[in-house]
Amino acid sequence: MDEDMFYRSTRNSEEKATASQAILKGLAENGGLFVPEEIPSLDVPMEKLADMGYQDTAYEVMKLFFTDFTEEELKRCIQNAYDSKFDTQEIAPIRKVQGAYYLELFHGATIAFKDMALSILPHLLITSAKKNHVDNEIVILTATSGDTGKAALAGFAGVEGTKIIVFYPKDGVSPIQEKQMVTQKGENTLVVGIHGNFDQAQTGVKEMFADKGLAEEMAAAGYQFSSANSINIGRLVPQIVYYVYAYAQMVKKGWLKDGEAMNVTVPTGNFGNILAAYYAKNMGLPIGKLVCASNENKVLYDFFATGIYDKNREFILTSSPSMDILVSSNLERLIYQIAGEDAQKTREFMASLQEEGKYGITPGMKGQLEGFYGNYATEEETAAAIRGIYGEAGYVIDPHTAVAAAVYQKYLKETGDSTKTLIASTASPYKFTRSVMASIDGKYQDRPDFELVGELEDLSGVKAPKAIEEIRSAPVLHRAECEVSGMRDVVKGFLGKR
Ligand SMILES: *Cc1c(COP(=O)(O)O)cnc(C)c1O
Repeated sequence: MDEDMFYRSTRNSEEKATASQAILKGLAENGGLFVPEEIPSLDVPMEKLADMGYQDTAYEVMKLFFTDFTEEELKRCIQNAYDSKFDTQEIAPIRKVQGAYYLELFHGATIAFKDMALSILPHLLITSAKKNHVDNEIVILTATSGDTGKAALAGFAGVEGTKIIVFYPKDGVSPIQEKQMVTQKGENTLVVGIHGNFDQAQTGVKEMFADKGLAEEMAAAGYQFSSANSINIGRLVPQIVYYVYAYAQMVKKGWLKDGEAMNVTVPTGNFGNILAAYYAKNMGLPIGKLVCASNENKVLYDFFATGIYDKNREFILTSSPSMDILVSSNLERLIYQIAGEDAQKTREFMASLQEEGKYGITPGMKGQLEGFYGNYATEEETAAAIRGIYGEAGYVIDPHTAVAAAVYQKYLKETGDSTKTLIASTASPYKFTRSVMASIDGKYQDRPDFELVGELEDLSGVKAPKAIEEIRSAPVLHRAECEVSGMRDVVKGFLGKR
């Protein structure tokens, strides 16, 4: 594609950015999200894609979105990201289990799907800074429900010209997730547990991004903020790649005929992963239904059922903490699209969400959601899915993937739709050892996560990933905690040390 693709803000039709500018900024002015002006079409035939490795597929997809990167720049970013940090050359292998196809997105450095995008984002960001002659140091502010934090830390640690600050809910992540983060090495990293939940952490970070006074203060000190959360287009686009790659692999293995529809089931929190699948579909990939799977925080299920998004409800801590989310940030991009790319309307919905905690879309908009199916899994159903799939097929899945597997079963029962289905498998079971083992057998209920690693190895026949061995004995390097209201001061304190 020769012409440059621009990005627009979901909340201001005047704001326009190149890909590299959008990646640098993370968030648009006044809290809007950057969206591509137009979704490009895949321009490589499937038979060619089927013969490509992950890296070449990544290039074919990303070049359509990141048009102001040169071929050399983009290929360098891709080579630096998808290398031996992944424990398989396939990068994202597919496992066929009980008639479903599990796309394993957890073979990267931190054993969750966030690695798929966060291993490339630092390279995209540094390249973007150079292209735009930015001399400030880039400060990544990140709120995490558990997996983003570690994946972002791993991506940015030691990357010159960047600092990264991660806020996580002190009591809202798994012990292994916490240990992964607080053992992070790197002078340029800071990890802080907040006394609050993920939504509060995310809101706090968004407020700092939107604070012009703070931005000026930071600029004077030689810093500028950017985001590693899935609101950054530099994270969303790399996630489109694995849907294209998966489809091509399914064709290659003879599991799909070229052009045959494939459904996709995605365990959903911030709506980033499933939105990437939606974009892949809009690029022309033959995706049928997009099955959106929630845990007991089922805001999205209610939204698809009623057209009303309502976060006024109890926040539930579940065994799938990375999906314990009441405000799914990336949904705004879908809202913008089904509102006819109307920034004014989108801004009104988001203002209503901010002020009243809810908004309702029009019947015309709701009519455009037919490609989606939403449902949710209770904690019991999630545990039953882990137990059932292990019992019948010997395959052990993590609780997030289990939410998807349980919802897929409900979808099958309800619709009888026999379309081949790809299930996004978003974390290694080793990241949630205790809850996985306790789902299989109650006798493991009170044992600590680390103690159960060996037993999970015996049970699953899959060796524990390197990431687990490494953190077992690693020293804790981060002990900071703060109140939700104190996040700003923490940021200033860390940067003041320069
Ligand atoms: C982040 C995450 C999810 C949710 O993905 P979204 O893009 O936020 O919808 C699901 N599972 C795991 C393991 C995750 O880390």
